[in-house]
Formats: sequence, C-alpha cells, structure tokens
Amino acid sequence: MDHSSLEQIWQAILSEAELNMSKASFTTWFKNSFIFDYQDDILTIGVPNAFTQAWFENKFSKDITKTFYKVTGNKLKGIKYIIKTKPKEAKSNFLAPDPPEEKENKAYKTNPSKDESLCLAAGLNPKYTFETFIVGKHNELAHAASWAAIRQPGETYNPLFIYGGVGLGKTHLLQAIGHEVLKSGKKVLYVTSEKFTNDYVDAVYHGQGNTFKSVYRNVDLLLVDDIQFMAGKDGTQQEFFYTFDQLHRANKQIVITSDRSPRNMKAVEARLITRFEWGMVADIGQPDLETRMAILNSKCQQKNFPLDQSIIQYIATNISNNIRELEGALNRIIGFCQFHNCEPDLSIAKQVLKDFFISIQANNLSTPQKILEAVANFYNLNLSELTGSSRKKELVIPRQIAMYLLRTRMDASFPFIGQELGGRDHTTAMHACAKIERDIQNNSKIRQDIEQISQSITSVY
Ligand code: ADP
Ligand code: MG
Repeated sequence: MDHSSLEQIWQAILSEAELNMSKASFTTWFKNSFIFDYQDDILTIGVPNAFTQAWFENKFSKDITKTFYKVTGNKLKGIKYIIKTKPKEAKSNFLAPDPPEEKENKAYKTNPSKDESLCLAAGLNPKYTFETFIVGKHNELAHAASWAAIRQPGETYNPLFIYGGVGLGKTHLLQAIGHEVLKSGKKVLYVTSEKFTNDYVDAVYHGQGNTFKSVYRNVDLLLVDDIQFMAGKDGTQQEFFYTFDQLHRANKQIVITSDRSPRNMKAVEARLITRFEWGMVADIGQPDLETRMAILNSKCQQKNFPLDQSIIQYIATNISNNIRELEGALNRIIGFCQFHNCEPDLSIAKQVLKDFFISIQANNLSTPQKILEAVANFYNLNLSELTGSSRKKELVIPRQIAMYLLRTRMDASFPFIGQELGGRDHTTAMHACAKIERDIQNNSKIRQDIEQISQSITSVY
C-alpha cells in the first residue's frame, strides 16, 4: 500500500477516534502518532513514548482494527507499536490547524530561546499558561475578566483584582495573562508583592529611586501577586500608590491578586483599597468535583501519564479545597509507579495515597493555635492583643470570632475556649458564640470574614 493511502486510512482512524473522546485526550494521544508501516496485514504505529504505547494497546487497538477493516476490508492480524518521533512532513493535515491567535504569534512561538528569556525577564513561569488552565464554575468570572483585560488592556477592567483562597489558581491565572500579553510584544512585569517591597526597600537604601521607578512605571502590564502581604508596610504602599496611579493614568493594565477581597484588606491605605475597586473585582472559589477531575486529567496529559478515571475520581473525591494538593496526590502515584515500574490501578492508588491523605488531614486539622493565629492574622492583630485583657472596641469582634471558630471547628468546651482566650470566663465564651451565630445570619461582613478566615485555616500552603 502506498504512503498516501496509508495516510488516508490513518485519517479515517483519527476521525473515528475523535468522535469517541474529548478533544483534549484526542490531541494528547494522537497528535504525535502515525502509521509507520503496513506489511503482511500487520500495522505498525509510531508513538512518541511508552506511556502512549501502553494506552494505545489497552484502549485503542481494538477500535483501530475495526476501523481499519471498515475502511480497507482487510482484516489486521495485529498491531505493532514503535516508539518514534513523528516525521515532519507527516504532520500535514492530521489535526485541525492551529487556532488563529497562535498563528499570528509565530514570532513568539518559533524562537524558544527568545521566548524563554522574555518570560524570564517578565518574571513568568512557562508552565502557567491558558493552555493548561482549566475553567470551571469556580473561576469562570475571573477567567472571563482576564480575557477582557487582555483584549482591551487598560480599558475595560483596570485594575482587575482577583481574590481567592490558597492553591486555587490565582498565580496560574495571573501568569497566564502575562504570557498572553507578552505574545503581542508588550512589556510585561510579574512580581509578588514581596518582591515589589524588597525592590523598593533596596532602591531606597541604595538611593536608586529612579531606577526603581523606571522599572515599574514603564510597563504595559503590571501583575502583582498576593498584594495582602503589603499590609502594614506603609512606605511600600505609598510607592505602590504612585506606581498604580502613573500606570493607570497612562491606560496601562494592572492586575492584582489577593487572598481576600479589597474591602477585607486590613492595614492597607484606604486610597489604595478604593483604587482596587475601581475596575473589576473577581473571586475564585473552590472547584466542583467535575472541574477537579478535569484538572487532574489535564495534569496527567501534561505529565504524559494516563490514569484510569476511577483513580482520577478517587483523588478528586478525597481532595476538595486545594488544587495544589490534587497535583501532589497525582505526583505521589506517578512517582510510585515509575519507581516500581508498575501500572497504576485503583488499589495501588488507594494504598499510595493513604499516607498522603493522612498528612494533609493533619495539616488541615485545626489546632487552637492555628485558629487564633488565623484570626489575629486576618485582623492584623498580635496574638497577645487577641488574647489580652484590653477592652478596646476593635478587639471585641475578632475575639468573639475566635471563640466561635474554636467552638464550631474543634467542638471545644466553653471553659476551654475561655482559657485559650486569655483566661476568660466560660460564660463570656458562651455569649460570644451565640452572638456570632446571630451575626452570621444578619451581618454579611462578619459572615464573609468568617468564611475567609476558615479558608485560611483549611489551606495548607
Ligand atoms: P494560588 O496562587 O491561588 O495559591 P496557584 O496558582 O499557585 O494557586 O495554583 C496551585 C496549583 O494548582 C498550580 O500548580 C496550578 O497550576 C494548579 N491550578 C490551579 N488552578 C488551576 C486550573 N484552573 N487549571 C489547571 N491547574 C490549576
Ligand atoms: Mg499564588
């Protein structure tokens, strides 16, 4: 059989396969696979690696044989696999052409070393792009707002303020925006608020204020991650205020992330908080089960390590509030199977993850100390203020919330709670818990505060 008819047969096999699986898995499995040879009714298929080979053998061989018969009328005696790089010319029209935006940006794509240095200079990690970012209900608003900011930088939503708990994808999304804008040749700078602070402190110390300004005020897109760490740093906040205003006036896009909403920021200048709310405030919540499974599947594809859906579901069911933990679980299984050279199955997964679940549970387990710290941290108080004897008004609510959380999260007794809060009477604890319960019903501010504090206790990282 000549080369072009082989190619046609392969095309038919591809079309059939495409109907039977998601676009993403189709691309993963078939993108770099091709017919290598066909002789004596044995079909040899080239695949990029052993994982793909295993997957083809288990999942696709039967269907390929069937389709081959449908198309040629020939019964295959068998299928062989060979690990080989797909030849360049065979890449032709097997898969749909690249989406237009990718084509437009050839310059960015085709020069990897240049890309890398661009990314590096912008502070971007090549891993965190939109291609690897799964969109679900929990982040669709933040995702849509990000694209609006990319399409009309400085115009639609400026600033874009994204907030949510730890490990839920803020940094990934922020960096993805950076990559996208970088493609259009614009000047992008990603920093954590700590880096901004350190740069500023250094600049002041070395008398290099102008260099600092020229770095931060001459960009088209400024991405500031974890702005909550600027709390209490007045000098840095002031400098950030000027940077912000200068960029904003010049219609340069600013995107900020935080672990809490602007109005819940503590020890941050009011004029900054006002500005954070100028544009769009979008939150990222917790992903639902389907999204967690989709994220795991996508990570498997990236790692080129297929896992059965029963395993994916098992992980996604047991880990629900931190995507980084999902990935951690996945890496455990992959590591184990690679080391022992075994095929992953559900019972192996269960065995391997037993320890992992215990350790994240232990991490997530509230201790009185953790709860008090989380509350103090949230309200920007010292632990000693929270548990101290001062009757200052601004300490009352945080104290009551701490008591309420000790009660609800740890099932602590009232005397114990009173004890933990600096030796207060158990009736004080009782009243506090009852009061907060009422507040949760009628005071949305307190309800939100408690939600965010709870999230920060739950998060491991
Ligand atoms: P955060 O900054 O909110 O703490 P990260 O952005 O660091 O969280 O995300 C933690 C991990 O989870 C990263 O490895 C990231 O790639 C992954 N992740 C988070 N959200 C998604 C998503 N929607 N799709 C794919 N991976 C995600
Ligand atoms: Mg982050």
